[in-house]
Amino acid sequence: MHWYDAKGDAAARLRQRKHALLQRLQIPANALPGSLALTHRRCGQPNCHCAQDEGHPLWSLTFMVEGKKHVEWIPDEWVEQIRPLVQQGRDFKDALSEIFAANAQLLALRRRQTVPRRRKKKR
Ligand SMILES: [Zn+2]
Repeated sequence: MHWYDAKGDAAARLRQRKHALLQRLQIPANALPGSLALTHRRCGQPNCHCAQDEGHPLWSLTFMVEGKKHVEWIPDEWVEQIRPLVQQGRDFKDALSEIFAANAQLLALRRRQTVPRRRKKKR
């Protein structure tokens, strides 16, 4: 008996979900971490239109490397290429987290189905 051999419908559903995730899981080799955001900046030229409005649109990718936050400005013409790669990265991480969470839930279910021996022998 293994820890992942929990019995019951909940365990069966967890295993089914886990297998479905594993089946379609492929490492997206060009995926990007972090999040893409649009901000606006004024260039500082008094005669530029941006002095009157919210500023020039500026895209950035914010991501963590070894615990440090990085912000990289992204040229407008790159945004449509970058966006799906960021989404792929997020989807992949979510799927991995869900698989590991399913494992932990299976362990918890199995643990609860295991009656400690000491208790069993009690009168
Ligand atoms: Zn300007």
